Amino acid sequence: MLIDTHAHVNDERLMPFAADIHDGLKDAGIEKVVVAGYDRASSERAVLLSREYPAYYASVGIHPHDSDSASADDYALFGKLSSESKCVAIGEIGLDYYYDLSEREIQKKVFAEQIELAYSLKKPIIIHVRDAYGDALKILRDSSKLLAYGGVMHCFGGSAEVMREAVGLGLYIAFGGAVTFKNFAKSDVVRAVPAERLLLETDCPYMTPVPFRGKDNRPEYIGLVRDKIQEWRQDIDVEEVTCKNAKTLFNI
Ligand SMILES: [Zn+2]
Ligand SMILES: [Zn+2]
Repeated sequence: MLIDTHAHVNDERLMPFAADIHDGLKDAGIEKVVVAGYDRASSERAVLLSREYPAYYASVGIHPHDSDSASADDYALFGKLSSESKCVAIGEIGLDYYYDLSEREIQKKVFAEQIELAYSLKKPIIIHVRDAYGDALKILRDSSKLLAYGGVMHCFGGSAEVMREAVGLGLYIAFGGAVTFKNFAKSDVVRAVPAERLLLETDCPYMTPVPFRGKDNRPEYIGLVRDKIQEWRQDIDVEEVTCKNAKTLFNI
């Protein structure tokens, strides 16, 4: 069975279909879905979904885009929500210098604060990085003692070198629909990830895989990601390995 380790069923575009999507999981061979929060409201919606539907799990956190809205109140709320057994991680958190929607210094501060929060709550972290691997690795290195509960570099787009350093810090590496794109140039990185650190995700409604480009992405398309990675990883059963890894990381 498959596990989608990063899905925004809590996004306004998918939320109305949360029940339909859940109904379709079994037929698509999907056992569990981690619904990732990206701000206060989406984190609350992720937890609501995890309470209502057996296959949905939640993560709570503030995306780098919204770093400048982060407050102590948010962290207190995340602390409260993460006491629920199906709230399995803090995230997505990180740095995004591609869009630069929050000031970089604030992004760094809020990323570091949420790493600390996750450690205090004994939760793994879900990390979003775009065009900021240097600064993100520096923060992760400086926080290495706080990574005891692990984490995942979601939608990984870095080099093999960055991947190796992240793995050295105890992190998992997740790939999604981008692997099916014609211009995806990182198959060598996918090949180099240690089997015991590889994860699958959709990041739906974004990152829709080929041949469904132009439509909203959904967890049910995750099989396309598995198939593509399986072409490059003849050494392992991608579905079996990534399912086991997701269960280990998120304790689900
Ligand atoms: Zn992300
Ligand atoms: Zn995401």
